[in-house]
Amino acid sequence: MNIVLIAPPASGKGTQAQMLKDKYNLYHLSTGDLLRNISKDGSELGIKVKNIIDEGKLIDDDLMIEIVKEKIYSIKNNGIIFDGFPRTLNQAIKLDEMLKEINKKIDNVIVLEIDKEIALKRSIGRVACSNCGNIYNIYFDDLKNPLKCNNCNNELIKRNDDTEEKFNLRFDSYVKNSKKLIEYYEKKNIVNFVSSLNDKETVFAEIKNIINRG
Ligand SMILES: [Zn+2]
Repeated sequence: MNIVLIAPPASGKGTQAQMLKDKYNLYHLSTGDLLRNISKDGSELGIKVKNIIDEGKLIDDDLMIEIVKEKIYSIKNNGIIFDGFPRTLNQAIKLDEMLKEINKKIDNVIVLEIDKEIALKRSIGRVACSNCGNIYNIYFDDLKNPLKCNNCNNELIKRNDDTEEKFNLRFDSYVKNSKKLIEYYEKKNIVNFVSSLNDKETVFAEIKNIINRG
């Protein structure tokens, strides 16, 4: 079973990928992790990738495809969750070709959906207690004092350096890039949209239903 996970920033994609991985013994192929690992493995391909990253350049389509191809042929799990790949239409077509060579295919494309406004609040509203580590969201949680931890009354600090502007750029670029990809998979009738507004268990239950339907 091979799944492509397409999701905007702050949609809880990482959590769902982890739950899917554990439930179905799938390999979680995240391109970020893949690039980090391969750049450390000392192989010819790894050295090439390391040099590109060190120079601050981007991994182009062809090289990314080569890296993924090498990886998917070696995976022994029940299937793969593709996360961050394919990112372009070209990559999606190439991925289908690669899988076909080993008599496999993409069975499901799960698209997590979330309103930009809510995603923005989820992302920039995250704060953590500097003392006990409790995590809150300033927009969604009922804080007795907006700058203090409910649990221990210590200072709350922002979880990431996301600004509204940076978040909007990331979100808009996701919408633009994912459009063609979703259209491509819709023609194959394998796209399922799941709202990620609910809590993680509810979202996961819906994803499980989709998978069990086959
Ligand atoms: Zn605290």
